Amino acid sequence: MFNKILIANRGEIAVRIIRACREMGIKTVAVYSEADKDALHTQLADEAVCIGKAQASDSYLNMERILCATIATKADAIHPGFGFLSENSRFASLCEKCNIAFIGPTADIIEKTGDKSQARNTMIEAGVPVVPGTKEPIFDAKTGEQYADSIGYPVMIKAALGGGGKGMRVVRAKEEFESNFNNAQREAVNGFGDNSMYIEKYVEHPKHVEFQILADHYGNVIHLGERDCSIQRRHQKMIEESPSTALDEATRKAMGEAAVNAAKAVKYRNAGTVEFLLDNKNNFYFIEINTRIQVEHGVTELVTGIDLIKEQIKIAAGEKLSYAQEDVVLRGAAIEIRINAEDPSKNFAPCPGTIKDMHIPGGNGIRIDTAVYTGYTIPPYYDSMIMKVMAYDKDRESLIKKIRSVLGEVIIEGVTTNLDFQYDILNNERFISGDVNTDFISNEFGL
Ligand code: ADP
Repeated sequence: MFNKILIANRGEIAVRIIRACREMGIKTVAVYSEADKDALHTQLADEAVCIGKAQASDSYLNMERILCATIATKADAIHPGFGFLSENSRFASLCEKCNIAFIGPTADIIEKTGDKSQARNTMIEAGVPVVPGTKEPIFDAKTGEQYADSIGYPVMIKAALGGGGKGMRVVRAKEEFESNFNNAQREAVNGFGDNSMYIEKYVEHPKHVEFQILADHYGNVIHLGERDCSIQRRHQKMIEESPSTALDEATRKAMGEAAVNAAKAVKYRNAGTVEFLLDNKNNFYFIEINTRIQVEHGVTELVTGIDLIKEQIKIAAGEKLSYAQEDVVLRGAAIEIRINAEDPSKNFAPCPGTIKDMHIPGGNGIRIDTAVYTGYTIPPYYDSMIMKVMAYDKDRESLIKKIRSVLGEVIIEGVTTNLDFQYDILNNERFISGDVNTDFISNEFGL
């Protein structure tokens, strides 16, 4: 087992990883930017190293500084968390070269799955259903339009290296194709430094259902059930739950097997997520593999009782999976509400600032992951997510009552958040009945 792990991240996920390490008797090193010298992760780790200025490019994305901090503190592994360098194959490869264990898949796997267009082809070969779409990358609007004509509208234009809902456009008619393609491509070049695009049939009113995967270094792969992440605003998740209201046992089994096959097709290692779209006829289509721990991993932890961060660390240290598929039992229901420092009345613009006062509830079946505290100033440089409010109960009906009750107790003063907006979703009749899809927010709230 590792002696010391450096956490190349910040915020609640860094805190989550530090806690798991402490429970496992592993020493921790935090890295922090100048803006994060008072951050919780900086204070909680056994050691903390300042790696540069506030801008992420000068700190949390600065590979050389993070590697230097790892070598200087004699840490033997790096946990990248999510975002920042977590899906950067060059960083994983540099870790490999420096003899530092990267807690995640190999650089080669990250590269193969990070190109979503290439991953689609691998899945087709492995017999995993994908949304009908292009096999080759597309670089210009004219070629794209010809293809869109052949599969029929509506279509989805996507960046091959895209993520976080960026570089993505829905096109409903031929006249709108060219401008949408050019805008999406521009976003892709700015965001991911790459202009390869691909086109998929747009699946109408789908649910986003993803499967959590664990894979060790010896070819063992299991899944830990699904998370329904259909509550999204502009293709970004806001609420996640498990189990999905949409799945019967047969579909769950088929999707779970497809997810395991998808992971095996790329010789996957460590924790990962296989994302699918599910249409209203229970057809499911692979959309991508995320090669990192997800924001919403806690939902799976609540229904399986398996600590995903500890499993990631054990796998990276070369241990065999401690669970076989039949050991994974999904019990009850769990949900996660993402609380962001943002203003829903101003188009969800980020609202950094100082937290004047706060109340974090607790109680039976409640889990709150956060790195903010009273007096803490949320810096403007990073993601606006400041808290994940999670709950667990025996079934969805009790769960919704519980999460509504707990959310009603949360107090965060001094910064504007999406708390009230989330509360409105939890009181929406369609949501309560489980009738959700990725159009839910736009249909119900006109956003
Ligand atoms: P990203 O990596 O940027 O998050 P994904 O490929 O995972 O992008 O897609 C994000 C979301 O976009 C999905 O959850 C879904 O809501 C929507 N989406 C993606 N592809 C399609 C499609 N072909 N049809 C309909 N919706 C889609």
